[in-house]
Amino acid sequence: MTNKIYYANQYLAQTEAIVTAIMENNGIILNQTIAFPESGGQESDCGTLMYCVNGQQRSVEFKNVRQVNGRLIYLENFPVIPVETDILHFLEMENTDLCVGMKVQVGIDVQRRERLTVSHTATHIGLMAIENLYPKLYDAIRGCHIKEDSSRLDFAIESKITDDELIPIQEYANELVSKDYPITMYAHSEEPEARYWQCLDKVYPCGGTHLLSTKNIGRMEIRKKNLGKGTQRIIFSFPEAVIDVGKYHT
Ligand SMILES: [Zn+2]
Repeated sequence: MTNKIYYANQYLAQTEAIVTAIMENNGIILNQTIAFPESGGQESDCGTLMYCVNGQQRSVEFKNVRQVNGRLIYLENFPVIPVETDILHFLEMENTDLCVGMKVQVGIDVQRRERLTVSHTATHIGLMAIENLYPKLYDAIRGCHIKEDSSRLDFAIESKITDDELIPIQEYANELVSKDYPITMYAHSEEPEARYWQCLDKVYPCGGTHLLSTKNIGRMEIRKKNLGKGTQRIIFSFPEAVIDVGKYHT
């Protein structure tokens, strides 16, 4: 199991770690990491592993991070997710001299992390605004993709959201952003890796990375795309987002 430091300190940009396993496809498992893996639709962090061989400093980039192994948890009103997983960092280079037991420094691309954090938070705000009009639509989510510059949610619904309905949804989302409401994240009492996101009285099960308040999302734009019968895609973008990386530290 990899210790997931991003839950204890979301703004740590570098940490020391030990290589605990080397897998296929240049996958490196570490005893602990700050690199957030692909999870809940959020794309993974990118970053660098730095290490020393015979007194010489080396570095290798990773552009994909994934979870493997672990155990599934079954909690009431919570999705089935794996916990106590190992975190695999897929390196961009083969034959790196890395071996099990070696000490490395893990650094992440904080610009990308912050953009994904804004995008993820905007997705929740957009969902809150949709549920203001369509209560419990959370249960109809069938897909989620959180990228740096936009995100999308796919819903299984028979009666599609209309253009007219998108107007109050976007207005409510922008009201939530402009009022700079605080956002809290906390763990389930029995499962520390089962985490929740809360803004006002809205709580969603989610272990992603999020802003601590709504303001930096900036103006939200909400569009829709029809994916055929029974499926509605809603796309969120935030062209005026403030990407504040000053809070990240080593
Ligand atoms: Zn989330």
